[in-house]
Amino acid sequence: MSTYGDRGNIICLEKRCEWRGIEARVTQVTLETPVRELKSCDLIFMGGAQDRQQKLAGDDFLHHKGPVVKAMVEQGVPALFVCAAYQFVGHYYQPYQGDKIPGAGIFDLYTVHPGDQKKRLIGNVVAELSCQLSAVSCQLKTIVGFENHGGKTYLNENPKSQIPMTKPLAKVIKGFGNNGEDGYEGAVYKNSIGSYFHGPLLPKNPHIADWLIAKALEMKYGKIIPLENLDDSLEWQAHSQML
Ligand code: GLN
Repeated sequence: MSTYGDRGNIICLEKRCEWRGIEARVTQVTLETPVRELKSCDLIFMGGAQDRQQKLAGDDFLHHKGPVVKAMVEQGVPALFVCAAYQFVGHYYQPYQGDKIPGAGIFDLYTVHPGDQKKRLIGNVVAELSCQLSAVSCQLKTIVGFENHGGKTYLNENPKSQIPMTKPLAKVIKGFGNNGEDGYEGAVYKNSIGSYFHGPLLPKNPHIADWLIAKALEMKYGKIIPLENLDDSLEWQAHSQML
């Protein structure tokens, strides 16, 4: 799934590895891709889609790919899930029309479309990271992007658990974020991130791209491998322009 150019996140990850001499191979995962290819990945990206594509992908994700992704995320494989994919990794997504789409139950959250297409959550959005994404120092604590979703996502902050497992990624400064109500944007669980930010997210937020790459190297080689600094002046100009 790749609504609003979300494939640009994959191009960004590829280039930021290539510029550092890190060999990166992309495996496109379709409905026909055997799960063994998915299991071989060190970093997972899944993009957005309209409700219709979500329904088409939902069955395969629920019964084949989702359980594999869940096991990989539990092992600490880094992942980025944007919009529809973010909805898929929760407990369920109740779309605008039709039956509830069960999710992979990886993040402790759920999504409901309020049923009024006129009230889509659309526009440029800025948020401040609310949790420390370690491994890379962030020049700025903000993330910028574009959102367009009907679904409203709510994190289940389980009052019983001492440390809420699924934490918010950021606090909204401008825009709607998860639901336009609680001020949260996105979610973090282990080394995986969910976000409503299209744009695509990573080119204008190089600190998030590097966090994912650093985590993938750490999990693959069992040690922290510092990333060589890149000249991100253009990326930060684009980021600041959005701010
Ligand atoms: N179809 C979902 C919604 O409208 C996700 C949209 C998207 O991925 N941009 O909420």
